[in-house]
Formats: sequence, C-alpha cells, structure tokens
Amino acid sequence: MTAPATAPTWLQQDLRHQLPEAVRGEAIRIWDSEGREYIDACSGAISVISIGHGVSEVAEAIGEQARTLAYVHSTQFRHPLGEELAGRIVRHAPGSLNHACFYSGGSEAVEAAVKLARHYHLLQGHDSKYRVLSRRRSYHGATLFALGVGGVPSRQAPYAPYMSTTPKQVECYPYRCPFGPGHPCCDLACADDLERVIGEVGADSVSCYIAEPIVAAAGPGLTPPPGYYERIREICRAHEILFISDEVVTGWGRTGKTFGIEHWDAEPDMIVSAKGLSGGYVPLSTVIFSDEIAAVFSGANTPFLHNLTYEAHPLAAAAALAVIGIIERDGLVENAAAQGEHLFDRLRLLAETEPLLGDVRGKGLLAAFELVADRRTKRPLEQTLSVTKRLHALARARGLMIYPGAGGDGIVGDQFLISPPLIVTREDVDLIVDRLALALADLHAELPR
Ligand code: PLP
Repeated sequence: MTAPATAPTWLQQDLRHQLPEAVRGEAIRIWDSEGREYIDACSGAISVISIGHGVSEVAEAIGEQARTLAYVHSTQFRHPLGEELAGRIVRHAPGSLNHACFYSGGSEAVEAAVKLARHYHLLQGHDSKYRVLSRRRSYHGATLFALGVGGVPSRQAPYAPYMSTTPKQVECYPYRCPFGPGHPCCDLACADDLERVIGEVGADSVSCYIAEPIVAAAGPGLTPPPGYYERIREICRAHEILFISDEVVTGWGRTGKTFGIEHWDAEPDMIVSAKGLSGGYVPLSTVIFSDEIAAVFSGANTPFLHNLTYEAHPLAAAAALAVIGIIERDGLVENAAAQGEHLFDRLRLLAETEPLLGDVRGKGLLAAFELVADRRTKRPLEQTLSVTKRLHALARARGLMIYPGAGGDGIVGDQFLISPPLIVTREDVDLIVDRLALALADLHAELPR
C-alpha cells in the first residue's frame, strides 16, 4: 500500500483542510502566522487553558525545575515537587479523597483508575468484580480501553472488535429525555437505569462505574438534575461498586466549583483529573482516591503500579503547582462561577432572538448550546447542511474558537461548547457572545431559505 503523494509529513485531523498555524498565545487569545487573532473560547480541548496562555510564572517554574532535576522514574525515586503536588491537590479534593498518583493524559489516568478499582477488589478477595459500567453519550479517552468505556459510537466504530461489550446506562439529557417527551420530569429514571444495567450483568461482576459530572464533547453540557448523583452514589454503595468521577474536563474550577461533582452531595471514591490542572503548559493527569482504597493497599503492603515512564514527571509537577497557585491567588474558581452566570445570561438573551438556539445548558464556564431547525418540535437541522462544520468555520473566521460536540442522538444534530479560560472578564464574555452572534448571522446567510 502506498501513501497518497499529497499526504503531509505531520498528519493533521482533517487532511482536506489546512489548519491555521498558531505562533503565539497570551491570556485568552491566540495569534496565527498570518497575524490573525482568535479568542480561545474553548480553552483548547474544552478546558485545558485554565489560567490563560503565556503566563511567564509557569514557564519560569518549569525552567527552574528542568535545570534542577528534569526527570526521575517513579519506581526509583520520590521527588519533592511530586510530594508537594499530591498534598496540594488533596487539600482541594472533597472529603476522604486524600491520596493521589500522577500520569500524563486523561486516558492514561482513566485506565489507571480502572486498574486501581480492579486491584482494590482483588485485594479484598472479590475476584469476580472486573466490569466497568458507564453511560451512553460519555467520553473517557482515546486509548482502546478508555474508548470502549466511553459511549461515542462514531469514534468507536472502526475499532469495534476491541470495544467493551458491557451494556450502558442511558444518558441524562433533560432537553431530550431518553424515556421520551411524555416522561414525568424528573423522577431520576435515568439514574435508576444504572440498576437495570447492574441487574443485566450481575453486581458480582462489577468493579466500578465512571461518569463525567457534566458531559463534555460526547453530549455538550448535559447536566443532571439535583439528586441524580446522590442516587448514583447510593446504587454504587449498595452493590460495592466504586464510583469514579471523570473530571478531566470539569476539574479545577471549570464549572464554578473546584470539582464538578461538588454541585451534588455525592462524594466519589475516585476523581480523575487532567487538562486544566497544569493549564496546558506540560501534560499532567491525576487519580485522586479515598482513604478507604489507600487503606486496603497499605493493609496488604502492596503498591499500586501502573508503571508508565512519565508518571509524576517533575516538570509537570512544577507546572501544576504554579497553576494551582494562580487559581488560588486569583480566585479563579469564584471567577468561573461569576463569569459563568454572565455567560449564561448572555446566551439565554441571544436565544430570545436566535431561532436556531434550541437549548442552552451547563454550569460555570462550561456552557453548551444545541441548534435545532424548529424550537417547538426540537427537530434537528438536516445533516446534509453540515451546520456544525459550517458554524465552527464561520466562528473561526470571526476570530472565535468554540468546540463542536456530538449531535442530539450522538450523530445527528449540532451542538457546541463555550468554555473560555477561567481568567475571562465580563467584557471578554460580552465579546465572545457578540462574535458568536455574528457567526450565527453568517450561518443564516449561508443556509437555504
Ligand atoms: N475524560 C474526559 C471527560 C475527556 O473529555 C477526555 C478528553 O477530552 C479524556 C477523559 C481523555 O483525556 P486525554 O485526551 O488527555 O487522554
């Protein structure tokens, strides 16, 4: 098989369209090699750029650590920044989540959490517990196992032979209730659906359950109602299933609280976090876990070994300590809550005059909108119109980066996330929504009447 003659050396996502070449970033903005300016209203991959681009304090902390000690392997040495970071992280984590380990990306951390859960059950003699339960319309990473745990059929399709075959709990999608429009709102039937799944596979086979507190790209901004995660917590406890909150996107202030799950009274057994934790300066992810899990490992005198080369990388630890310091010093969690309210006010105001805006949802600075052809019937726009692709390009042409997500049924439909860096001001939020309104006007001009 020969490669097409035109294949670029660096394979980008879409071979038909050359992406702009980014050369500089500062605060909430990025500039390309032709001098065009963009507002990074989706923090890169939804929630990476927490404290903004180009913060020299972080660059200095990384440089200092690179000069002092760039790398040691975690099976050979501890290092002071790793110890300090673990302590700093758990101070922010809820309740009994007092232990942390470190990897590079979200997918790695999700898989580490799954292995940690399985190992925890083995140490207690519960050898049959291995299954990982999750929801439709969720995303937990791109590596083969994490991809199978998630629920994005279009991303899974080419790798179907490797995907998990465990049935999935239905999504929590208040705008399009999975039990149909006539279903009483809201009796938490979608939370109870976890019982159905457990019943089908047998509780004895289930090790853990993983969910994003508020869904990111797989179901932009899907936000369960009050009581939802309390019910999930109850079900997991009753069946000795560990509850993992996947906060790769929602962690570190994104939703107006340090962790997204804190909007509910439901302490998980583990939190997986990445992205905003190191603000994009060096890749870093973490699994934060409970005293109870830690006690089982120390009682058995067994370490938990995931064994990746770049576990607890000193440069990533230096970056994250600097980033967390800035989040604390500048009150960025509180800023996300306050500016998030303004963002939602502005989006809802826009929806009053914009007929395509069917639903606006999310929390804090994790806002999402769904476009529809008819607001009364919630009918999606025709797929042949390629509205997601068009609006993404039109917004970029207006200097606005927003994040496209999966459609209303996972495939058909048009949804986006707006998730700017946590440092945004009220004026920045106004500018973001103004540019979005212009892009939507451009879209109307393009669509057939
Ligand atoms: N979990 C969630 C909720 C995510 O959104 C992502 C990535 O977007 C991941 C896990 C995987 O993280 P990574 O891409 O860093 O491997």
